[in-house]
Amino acid sequence: MRIRVAIIFSILIIILTVCTLLAKRSRKAISGAVAFLVSSFIPPVFGNLIILCTGNELFATVGYYIYFLGMDLIMFALIGFTAKYCNVKWPHKLLGIFVYSILAIDAVQLLLNPIFGHAFETEQMQMEFAVYYRIIAKAGQAFHRIVDYSIFGAVIIVFIVKIIKSVRIYAERYVIILFAMICGGIWESFYIFSKTPIDRAMIGFAAIGILIFYFALYYRPLRLLDRMLASMASEMPEALFFFDMNGICIWANEKGTKLVEIEDNDYALAKGILEKTFGSLEREEEEWTTNVDVDTIFGTRHYILEMNTVPYSETKNAGSFLSVRDNTVEYLALQRQIYNSTHDALTDLFTREHFFDCIDKTYRPNSDTDYMVIYFNVNNFKMINDVFGNTFGDCVLKAIADKIRTLVSDFEADCIYGRIVGDTFGIFMPEAEFEEKKFVDTLAHFRVTAGSRSHNVLIHMGAYRIPHGTEVEAATMMDRARMAFSSIKDNYQVFISYYDEEMRSKVLWDQSISSQLSNAIKKKQILPYLQPIVNNDGKAVGAEALVRWNHPEIGFMSPGLFVPVFEKNGMIAEIDKHMWRCACETLARWKKEGKDYFISINISPKDFYFMDVVQEITNLVDEFGIEPVKLRIEITETVMMTNAENSIAIIKKFQDAGFVVEMDDFGSGYSSLNMLKEMPVDIIKIDMGFLEKSEAEDRSVKILRNILNMTYDLGIESLTEGVETAEQYKMLSEMGCHLFQGYHFAKPMPVEDFEKWASKS
Ligand code: C2E
Ligand code: CA
Ligand code: CA
Repeated sequence: MRIRVAIIFSILIIILTVCTLLAKRSRKAISGAVAFLVSSFIPPVFGNLIILCTGNELFATVGYYIYFLGMDLIMFALIGFTAKYCNVKWPHKLLGIFVYSILAIDAVQLLLNPIFGHAFETEQMQMEFAVYYRIIAKAGQAFHRIVDYSIFGAVIIVFIVKIIKSVRIYAERYVIILFAMICGGIWESFYIFSKTPIDRAMIGFAAIGILIFYFALYYRPLRLLDRMLASMASEMPEALFFFDMNGICIWANEKGTKLVEIEDNDYALAKGILEKTFGSLEREEEEWTTNVDVDTIFGTRHYILEMNTVPYSETKNAGSFLSVRDNTVEYLALQRQIYNSTHDALTDLFTREHFFDCIDKTYRPNSDTDYMVIYFNVNNFKMINDVFGNTFGDCVLKAIADKIRTLVSDFEADCIYGRIVGDTFGIFMPEAEFEEKKFVDTLAHFRVTAGSRSHNVLIHMGAYRIPHGTEVEAATMMDRARMAFSSIKDNYQVFISYYDEEMRSKVLWDQSISSQLSNAIKKKQILPYLQPIVNNDGKAVGAEALVRWNHPEIGFMSPGLFVPVFEKNGMIAEIDKHMWRCACETLARWKKEGKDYFISINISPKDFYFMDVVQEITNLVDEFGIEPVKLRIEITETVMMTNAENSIAIIKKFQDAGFVVEMDDFGSGYSSLNMLKEMPVDIIKIDMGFLEKSEAEDRSVKILRNILNMTYDLGIESLTEGVETAEQYKMLSEMGCHLFQGYHFAKPMPVEDFEKWASKS
């Protein structure tokens, strides 16, 4: 028996040591206190082991000292552990000092026992055929027991109070440790009072240590977790339903019971009610999510249902749970957001992007339906805004939106419409539904009145018929309709224009020549022709450089075919720069060869957008070392008149740099003769063609004479172009004109031809 207990003690010492080491490694806040407490159980067990194994009085006595002092150490550690585990503080600082002092006094008085013999002495006895020393307790020992019992009792009270005070689900962690301590305590008391020589209660004590180690560091109270999860589930914003393996509802949170309107324990009814509202919950897949709209008396509500399984093992499920979330608020907010991003705030019509998107989604080239796209724009909308104010402008746009809505409400088939930008709108519809008269009657002109303001709105429409089978995107459809629209320009008689093949081939032509231009310049296909300018004697004094395109497939192209295209897209600047350079090259060569002719170059209004024209041309004459007077600058009258101030500045800059400036096409625009006074040009070029158009010839002659007289008075020289007959030449000479250009003298010709022509003139 002594041997068996000794073996148990030894094993306990090993276990306690291992527990101490493990506790030290744990990262929990409590681990330090646990490690200390567990290790404090080792000395008493070790003391008892010595007592048990020895037949020597001295060793036995030492064993008893280790045992008793060890008990004090346990108490000391227990106080620290309890404070941390139960999260309590000394009610008063002095109480702590008092308790620790008593413990210290007890230890000291035990240590003084060898001197005074007041605590205990040992007594030899025979046990299992060997000598054994048991103790005879004295007053000191009684004091020791009282101290330890008191502390132990106090710790138990702290635990009991903690249990009473905490929420039930938390009490568990205290109850377990309290239970272990009480068992250990009773066992120890039994040993003391039964006076059995071997302290088997040590086994119980060590067990307390091990239990505390386990419960404080490793034990996860499942019930606590259960409760926590359940209370979390109750707090969730979703309605939750838990189903067992057989699909029977076993629990639902409060939101869930409310949703299906059942009493707390009628969970089994939940599934039936849920399926009635949301449809079957049985799916092929185990986990799923779905959106369900439910019509209620308060309107449609939007729910998100999510079924999840609770895995039990790799192949089995313990059950499943369904969450039902009322997503109505978020759903409506999202719908609003989508609506706002796809609808124009002012008119409530589709935005351009959404309008195009919808067309692209609807239009199928391989369907049998022919479609139609109508583009329309308010005439002079800027003026409406400027004159009547933006608020009135907004009213006009809203009125248009309303008109479109009324118009399309008559159509049987679906029709898509939107506000493209500003005052531009579009409609996409099956061609069969389109009636031109209806459109024109409703949309082309109507009166808008807002407050005291009222205005007749005029709308021009461009339409593009899309025969089925045409591969085309919404943006291109709209471009074509816009092209048709642009062809109306300011015509007040025509309200709608249709895109046709001619427009299409024009666009293709524009695209084709635009893509060829830079290559054509590089390959010298773009070249100047010179048309002689002669004086009263019919002698060439100079020439106008006119562009020609020697196209490898088309042959010689006159500028009428491409200049307007490039003026529209700005590429004219490329041509002009090339032409100016060619003119300068020729002038530089003439200078060397002693030829004294000038060359007039054309400047397009667009050139001013793309470069500093004066700087560009000045650089060129510098580069070629020619005199600026030899390069005459032709700027059309319309350019000068549209931005008079700027033009005057440019003309002056040219003149300051030594150039001669001509006003081209005088009389073709709306120039007033008055403006001429302000334009400091050196020469005006009068176009005979323009004068001929006048009804009565004598009237034209009068006008011409007046212009010539006036320019003479202003000190401006005049040049008449388009001179086709000898009579015209004679008449103009008599009227005092000094310079002439026209087919009567020569047509534009290559540079070498001009040189020959000029030398003979
Ligand atoms: P423009 O500057 O008024 O040029 C005069 C046009 O009248 C030339 O046509 C010329 O061939 C033509 N013309 C000359 N004499 C007569 C005549 O007696 N009767 C008739 N009916 N026509 C005559 P072209 O060369 O076809 O040029 C047409 C227009 O193209 C030019 O009108 C000018 O505006 C533009 N253009 C020509 N070359 C260039 C250039 O290098 N740059 C720019 N920006 N425009 C150019
Ligand atoms: Ca010209
Ligand atoms: Ca001209």
